[in-house]
Amino acid sequence: MKDKKKSVGGARRRRPSAAAGHTKPAAFLDRDGTVCDEVGYINHLDRLRVYPWAADAVRRLNQAEIPVIVVTNQSGVGRGYFTEDLVRQAHRKIAAQLAARGARVDAFYYCPHHPTAPLKAYRVNCRCRKPAPGMVEKATKRFRIDLKSSYVVGDSYRDMRLGFNIGARTALVMTGYGRGEYEYHRRQWPRMPDLIAENLLEVVKRILAESESSVAPRRTRKRKKR
Ligand SMILES: [Mg+2]
Ligand SMILES: [Zn+2]
Repeated sequence: MKDKKKSVGGARRRRPSAAAGHTKPAAFLDRDGTVCDEVGYINHLDRLRVYPWAADAVRRLNQAEIPVIVVTNQSGVGRGYFTEDLVRQAHRKIAAQLAARGARVDAFYYCPHHPTAPLKAYRVNCRCRKPAPGMVEKATKRFRIDLKSSYVVGDSYRDMRLGFNIGARTALVMTGYGRGEYEYHRRQWPRMPDLIAENLLEVVKRILAESESSVAPRRTRKRKKR
């Protein structure tokens, strides 16, 4: 019974520095327009529509052991359109719908603030409203994340700016506001996203293909040694 503890301690002693340095990429996903339909504001659960391909996309990330972290600006809270409780309910509903199809979001983070919010409690220049990095910083305290190889995926250039700010890779989807932003605003963009794809599933396929090709040489070496 108590043997379990022993082996855990042994493993920890074996290579403490390797464990500390053992970080991996995460996928930071925008919510509205990326995981579920962009409908302006989700101010009622009836308006919530998870994209039909989202479960497949998230499950593939789960299988690759890439943490899936939703980061979403919900300034509608500060504007008084809906409550934080509704945001949390929406996240439970998204999680349940994905779970029904074998997919798991590892964490949801939201920013309810806005610098000019009518509700005083939320009227702040916070550190969490994208493109500020606050939500990502919270996540990195909880998960071991290598930001440089992580991806920020979203349907707006604001999401891309978050990615630039944290030094991660960026992927723009054509769902939600994505196509419109790309068609009409990309000429003003100081920097282009690393990836542009039709939807979240297409992004995930390309992320996984990239990470496959980056680990492949190491596997080959191992085989040769044997
Ligand atoms: Mg969005
Ligand atoms: Zn905030």
